[in-house]
This record gives sequence, C-alpha cells and structure tokens, in this order.
Amino acid sequence: MEAKGTPREILREAESFLVGGVNSPVRALTKPRPLIVTKGEGPYIYDIEYGELLDNVLGYGPLILGHRHPEVQEEVEKAIENGWLYGALAPVEVDLARLILRYVKPGGKIRFVNSGTEATMLAVRLARAYTGRDKIVKFDGAYHGAHDHVLVAAGSAATHLGAPQSPGIPKCVAENVIVAEYNDFEDIERVFQDHGSEIAGVIVEPVMGNFGVIPPRKGFLQHLRRLTRKHGALLILDEVITGFRLGMRGAQGYYGVEADIVTLGKIIGGGFPVGAVAGNSDIMDMITPKGKVFNAGTFNGHPVTMAAGLATLRVLEREGLSKAVEAAKAFEDIIRDVLDKLNIEYALNRVESMLQVFLGVTNVDSPRKASMANRKLYERLHEEMLRQGVLIPPSQYESIFTSIVHGVREVERFQEAFRVAAGRIGGWSSA
Ligand code: PMP
Repeated sequence: MEAKGTPREILREAESFLVGGVNSPVRALTKPRPLIVTKGEGPYIYDIEYGELLDNVLGYGPLILGHRHPEVQEEVEKAIENGWLYGALAPVEVDLARLILRYVKPGGKIRFVNSGTEATMLAVRLARAYTGRDKIVKFDGAYHGAHDHVLVAAGSAATHLGAPQSPGIPKCVAENVIVAEYNDFEDIERVFQDHGSEIAGVIVEPVMGNFGVIPPRKGFLQHLRRLTRKHGALLILDEVITGFRLGMRGAQGYYGVEADIVTLGKIIGGGFPVGAVAGNSDIMDMITPKGKVFNAGTFNGHPVTMAAGLATLRVLEREGLSKAVEAAKAFEDIIRDVLDKLNIEYALNRVESMLQVFLGVTNVDSPRKASMANRKLYERLHEEMLRQGVLIPPSQYESIFTSIVHGVREVERFQEAFRVAAGRIGGWSSA
C-alpha cells in the first residue's frame, strides 16, 4: 500500500476526517506522532517515515503469529475465492467452534460475534438473564470493551485519557455495576456479603492487561469461583487477551479455575475482527434462536475471520507458544539487567508472553499501585524505543506482547534499543 503525502500531511487530513485523527484512542498516543503504517511482516511493521519497527504491540494482542503469517494468508485467500459473506451457516464456523470448545469449554457451546466488546456485552446480558439478577461486579481499572455495562472505572485508554467512566452512560446502568478492588480478597468478600443475592455475575480479566500487566494473587481467581458459586452468581472470565495466549486452555488452564462464561476475542480471529462467548450448554442455549436472550449480527461468524482464526489456532496447536514465551522472558531479563545497572527503580510483571514494566515503583499487584508508577517516564521510554526502531505500547496501561516469530534477532534488537533508551531516561529520571 503506498502512502500519498508526508506524515504531516496525512495526519492533518486524518484529523480533518477522523475523530482525533484515529479510529481508536490508544493509536493517537504514540510519540512523537501517531504511527502511519502501510505494511506488516512477521514481527515487524513499517511506518511510512520511520521504516521497519520491531512490533511488540501486535495489534494490541491478536497477532500471536506475527504479521501476515503464510498459513493464515493462504486460508484467507482460499476463503475469499468462494465469496466472503453468506448470511448463512458456513462449515468453517463449526470447525472453529469445535476447536475452541475442545480447549475452552468441552461439551459447551459458543457464539461468535465481532469484537471483545460485543462478547462481554452478551456475556453480561446472559448472566443477568440466567440468574434473573441485575448487578454485575467488575474490578476497578479492568477493561472489558467500550459498552455501557462495563465502562465504569475502566482501564486501558479510558484511564489513560482520564475518563474511566464515559459521559453518556445512564446513571441507572452505572448503578447496576459494582466496582471491586482487584486482588483484594476481603473487598470482594464484602461486596458479596452486602449484595450477594443481587449479583448476576463477576466479570474479571484473569490477568489484568489493561492497566499494564497485573497477575492475579495466588488463589484470587479461586476465591472468586468460591464466592460466585456460594451466592448463585456466574463467573465470567474475560479472556479476550489471555485466551490462547496463556496456553491453549487460556487462563482457565493456566490458573486451574473454571468459568461459567468465557469471553474471547483477539487471537481467535487471527487478526480479523472477532469476539466470542463460550459456556456450558444450559447457559448458552438461552441465546437466540434457541432461547430468548437476544444476540444477532450481520457479520457474526464471518467466514474470512473464521478461516483466519482456524489457521491461527492450528499453527498454535502444532508449534505451541514457547517461542513467544521465550522472547518475552528474554525481554524481561534484558529490562531487569539494564534497569538494575542503571539503578532505576521498577516493577516488572510478566505472565507468559505478556509483560509490562512500571518505573519508579518496586511492586505492582493492583491498579492503585500501577497508577503510582512514573507514567511520564514510561512514555519517554516508549518514545526513545521508537527512535531505536522498537515499538512498545505508548501507554503504561497496555501490555507488551511477543509472538511466536519473535526470535534471536528480535531479542538482540530489543536489547540494543533498550540499552540506549533506558540510558537516556536514566539521565532524565535523576535530573
Ligand atoms: N476485554 C479485554 C480484556 C480487552 O483487553 C479488550 C480490548 N483490549 C476487550 C475486552 C474489548 O475488545 P475489542 O477491542 O475487540 O472490542
């Protein structure tokens, strides 16, 4: 794809036609300017001016095989040969459903939608319908997409931009959302003591991935499982990020916890728009057309997305996730080594192939502690890394991701860039 005009011209035009010059807020945060990308290949993307950048953002999570994986491309091209939208059942929907359910919810069912947002929207509706209750518990700083019922005290760009609760959300909706403290055993216990009989479900990112990366404390997810069971509420694990990243069974397998409803997105669409809700049949059969809980979508189960998702998951089945994890572990070692030598205080959280570093703090196990980190310094780190040809998220509140095509060359490149970038911010941090 060829770009017409200089970056300045393109951005000026973008701003005149697109709100804020972008179509999703985090894309505006890259410094010194939003990236303008015309190509992705393997672990690299190409900005029209900066050239090749090592991509450790990977579309904010979906591209676990890197860009333009040949097997995904082949399946997408094959799918397109036959037309790309039928408004009818396509066999590939069944194939992807079978594969996902084998890992995520054996014996259960799945509904494909078009984004993580749609998935959590349906999951919340389903929990309410199933229990006949209205209240949903979410955690402060957790992000579950851009719809009203979860955009209360939300992380990701919502927090970054200082609007964790969006104007335009009716009070009556927000009143039915109870916000609890992630990783705080007593707080959630108290919430259930006070509201147990009104709570339809708890929705949780098993690893918080929208406030940097914050893993669950040992036993926290099991604690949620016990409490929800005891009070007749459903446990909704939002695995939009963690699904097929923490292992083929996602966070359920990684942490040994079973959810009533799992929301998926990102990786299962192979880089095409997707979301999904999976659960046991008694819950899922409440959805239209079998039941009355309404869900529909012109693009649900889109054949091209399904083909891309299926190809992606088959590659993961065959090759495993270890290359992505090894690269992330190498990044962790590099960051620790360099920051230790520079005497810069930091906390680093990594779970498999997702990680984030927090500067100026030593331990981050809650969004409250994450927000005490030196965000501005992180943003400078991002900018300096970009100058060295390496992309890490522009916001402290996103995750660094690696892919299975991140290899030795990429680790070396990250190391060189990080040494230079951290050296520069080291100067700033003591200035
Ligand atoms: N849930 C989680 C945990 C997410 O990280 C995201 C997006 N980053 C969503 C839901 C929303 O997904 P989407 O952007 O596809 O609507």
